[in-house]
Amino acid sequence: MNKVSRRGFLLGTGAVVGVAGGKYLAPSNPSLDGVSVHLAKTGETLLNDASGLSATPVHKHIMLREDLGESLIAKVRAEMVEAKSAGRAINVGAARHSMGAQAIPRDGHAITFDNGFVDADLGAGTYKVHGGARWSQIIAALDPVGWSPKVMQSNNDFGVASTFCVNAHGWPVPHGPMGATVRSFDMVVEDGAVVTCSRTQNAELFNLTMGGYGLTGVIVSMEVEMEPNLRLEPNFAQMEAVQFGPAFEAALADPDVNMAYGRLNVDRGRFFEEALLITYRPTADQSDLPAAAGSGVMSKLARHIYRAQLGNERMKRTRWWTETGLGPMLGSGATTRNTLINEPVVTLDDRDPNRTDILHEYFVAPSRFEAFLDVCRAVIPNSYQEFLNVTLRFVNTDAESYLSYAPVPRIAAVMSFSQEMTARAEADMARMTRDLIDGITGIGGTYYLPYRPHPTQAQFERAYPRAAEFAAAKRSFDPSLTFRNNLWDQYLGTL
Ligand SMILES: Cc1cc2nc3c(=O)[nH]c(=O)nc-3n(C[C@H](O)[C@H](O)[C@H](O)COP(=O)(O)OP(=O)(O)OC[C@H]3O[C@@H](n4cnc5c(N)ncnc54)[C@H](O)[C@@H]3O)c2cc1C
Repeated sequence: MNKVSRRGFLLGTGAVVGVAGGKYLAPSNPSLDGVSVHLAKTGETLLNDASGLSATPVHKHIMLREDLGESLIAKVRAEMVEAKSAGRAINVGAARHSMGAQAIPRDGHAITFDNGFVDADLGAGTYKVHGGARWSQIIAALDPVGWSPKVMQSNNDFGVASTFCVNAHGWPVPHGPMGATVRSFDMVVEDGAVVTCSRTQNAELFNLTMGGYGLTGVIVSMEVEMEPNLRLEPNFAQMEAVQFGPAFEAALADPDVNMAYGRLNVDRGRFFEEALLITYRPTADQSDLPAAAGSGVMSKLARHIYRAQLGNERMKRTRWWTETGLGPMLGSGATTRNTLINEPVVTLDDRDPNRTDILHEYFVAPSRFEAFLDVCRAVIPNSYQEFLNVTLRFVNTDAESYLSYAPVPRIAAVMSFSQEMTARAEADMARMTRDLIDGITGIGGTYYLPYRPHPTQAQFERAYPRAAEFAAAKRSFDPSLTFRNNLWDQYLGTL
């Protein structure tokens, strides 16, 4: 295990304490081993996640880089035998960008997978992939043969099995979450057996593992659907925020729309009053697609404007102007689907050791979008948090996973806050989160589970009505409770 610098963690009001100094940057290079740090004084190993606020003691943290096959399975089994015999937990993670220790087993065995194996089957329109492969590696493998991931997040740093285990969504439309694009996977389960799960084989375990936060086993490989890469061009439509729900639904009725997202203005003066809808359609010319690029000049320019918004209401208005006026003028050229999704998280990193970027995400039916705006207007501007961005996406029905956040089609609102690394800011964030969840579940919506563990137990059970059923099924597949992390410890273990 390497020692890496990491963010400080909270001690008391106003205090920011660095364990090893400096700040942890998300490992855009998957060969980095994540966020563990060994404290020589106490002999403890702490593992953290991208929030920098989840430092949790673990028994050990190991990287497994083996290719698919017996050697990888043997290593996973050996770790399981050791953990089980000592009554300790196991949990596998990839980029550890979940923000509430959802990939950290307290006092247990943390495993990070690091292997980018991808094998595309062009005839079947699928690819076989190592569970630890990152989307950057998958795009690098599919792009030269003319294909693209069907559904992934808006950034390319995350692991493919992680994406399935949080059942993440992206902005390609009109798809459901990523789990909808998974045909099958191989997983090492509690007794050490390797089982293949699909919609026809071990179907209950398939559904339980989709969005099941690694609580059912260790996914070693997956078979996932892909779709052709395309040259796409954007269309920008500006509107009043209250018009966004119906406008988004109307845009999705056009089968040519391949990717779509929205934005709302975030300055406090006119908070959430204006919206922008961006839709991408294929161009007439689909020949000679250029290789997938990374962050373009526009993304890098956008980072500066994005960060300059901190504490600066005028800059928030300037950013809205660049997005609604300058962006359409400068960024309206055609690009490829793969280039659009090949964006690393680090592009927007704040590089400030005293602050951390915290995401929230809420899901509401398009017909309740206006009510959603009202909830946000009542809650967010009253907090101390610096609200930097909201992106709106579409997520189609997920009727398969137990912890589904989209039992009906929903608009996803991904919110980005910059939070001070202080106890006071943390308490304010917790209060704001609970107020938002009360309002949003009150209009039939849901919140997303990979972020900070601020919701109350009652809010969790209200937003995820099948949680107790999930916990009971997990116990039947994992009677020794070998697979655990903070999502289990904090919310599911008592159900
Ligand atoms: C900047 C940013 C942008 C984001 N954008 C989006 C977005 O557009 N859409 C969206 O839906 N979400 C988004 N998210 C949330 C993101 O999808 C989750 O945080 C996801 O977990 C990140 O992947 P990871 O590799 O970091 O997962 P990790 O945190 O490493 O793991 C997540 C979960 O998967 C489990 N797991 C991982 N690998 C395995 C395995 N091999 N076997 C069994 N279980 C496993 C872990 O135990 C854990 O419970 C974003 C997050 C950030 C920080």
